[in-house]
Amino acid sequence: MEKFSERVNRMSFSQTFVMSNKVREMKAAGIDVISLTLGEPDFDVPDNIKEAAFAAINNNFSHYSPVPGFLDLRQAVCEKLKRDNGIDYVPAQICVSNGAKQSIMNVLASIINDGDEVILPAPYWVSYDEMVKMMGGKSVFIETTIENDFKMTAEQLENAITPKTKALLYSSPCNPSGSFYTYSELEKMANVIAKYPQITIISDEIYEKINYEGKHVSIAEFPQVCEQTAVINGMSKAFAMTGWRIGYSACPDWLAKAVEKIQGQVTSGANTMAQKASIAALKADPATYQYMIDEFRKRRDLVYDLLQKVPHFKVNDPKAAFYFFPDISYYCGKTLNDTFIRDADDFAMFLLQNANVGTVGGTSFGNPHCIRFSYAASEQELLTAMKRIKECLDNVHIAS
Ligand code: PMP
Ligand code: GLU
Repeated sequence: MEKFSERVNRMSFSQTFVMSNKVREMKAAGIDVISLTLGEPDFDVPDNIKEAAFAAINNNFSHYSPVPGFLDLRQAVCEKLKRDNGIDYVPAQICVSNGAKQSIMNVLASIINDGDEVILPAPYWVSYDEMVKMMGGKSVFIETTIENDFKMTAEQLENAITPKTKALLYSSPCNPSGSFYTYSELEKMANVIAKYPQITIISDEIYEKINYEGKHVSIAEFPQVCEQTAVINGMSKAFAMTGWRIGYSACPDWLAKAVEKIQGQVTSGANTMAQKASIAALKADPATYQYMIDEFRKRRDLVYDLLQKVPHFKVNDPKAAFYFFPDISYYCGKTLNDTFIRDADDFAMFLLQNANVGTVGGTSFGNPHCIRFSYAASEQELLTAMKRIKECLDNVHIAS
């Protein structure tokens, strides 16, 4: 009898972690390698947040919290959603989870049946398609182009809808492309989805704060789809709290209870100290954390300039998040030194082995012609990494 479930057999390992583990192994073997693999802020957790965590430990917040999170945290999330996004929620609509990753899973587990379709504009974040598969659903991909900043149009969205479509799942700002949807683009998308009440929008806004251009817009701001939208957000990116594992969903009433039911059977409430610390994080003036955004922006500008000099890389100008997603298709189908490069995954491996720089191939993000790298690394690391990549590609022998 087959030991494994069909579920696990149809899934892949998360490529972000596969590549970051490879870098870790190389480092352990004494190799000087720079990791631009995992997307996580390299800043320390701000002191006001740490102090709130210490206080929570000293005040013995050491027991189970309610499954969807402490009431005061859910209130703080509602205040944040009102302050930053102008959307009204009550605590019963909020479920605090072990990271935004779990929040997305909770929503998918609540709505997806075998064979249901989930629309994913590509490129998409690595875990979306795998989560859909885990739930027995089927992803329907919308192709985008670098010329269009990797964004789908409302027309493409409408064309992808079938009677089986159950959800639309995307991130804006987008991991991996660094694009974000504007007010008018979202309004057009909202007008399409409003015509199909069976479709739920899962709007992943975890990079909301890392936006260099304009005010972030949530599709839940549009009343025509508010009742169809689950907003996903969390502490990992805006507050450099990736390891603290706190994310949340804000759902319409009909969905919120289902999300809580799933979480209550899987993990219960999230870590109590991290929940208390998250209240401090959310309640502080957003300007407290602006220094991180300013720094990301400086690094973005620096890397953007350096990338122009890397041979045959095509880049868009990412205006949010902290990733570049260069198109490296020039190298696909060619032999670099002795290595045949089939796709961007082979190319990422080539860079790891020949330039000692870790990136992630684009296949698992839904684009086999691009590689993703995070610029949430120090300026020195970024300078060295770009120099290594350029030198490697300047000197490589290319055969068609
Ligand atoms: N969504 C996107 C687009 C992400 O990049 C990440 C980063 N891991 C997550 C969700 C999950 O974040 P976390 O679980 O750390 O809150
Ligand atoms: N969001 C990060 C990334 O895309 C963290 C890794 C992950 O959760 O997959 O690199």
